[in-house]
Amino acid sequence: MLVMKKKQCIKCKERKYLKEFSFRKDSNRHRNCCMKCMSNKSLKYYRKNIEHCIEYKKRYYRENREKILELRKKQYKLKNEK
Ligand SMILES: [Zn+2]
Repeated sequence: MLVMKKKQCIKCKERKYLKEFSFRKDSNRHRNCCMKCMSNKSLKYYRKNIEHCIEYKKRYYRENREKILELRKKQYKLKNEK
């Protein structure tokens, strides 16, 4: 019978089966953080990042509105000329 190995997650401190940890091919070992914690972490990061991106885009758009519009016009023209 196959004995499932367990590993303690450094985040939630729970002992879980290895299959609940994602495997890193580059280091050839499992992560110290379980998938659940990993996804929580990445989700947080993702949200933060998204907010940052949106904010950045908004600001960029405000500051470069004329340029962007001009560029769009050009692209539009180019597309239609072909
Ligand atoms: Zn965990």
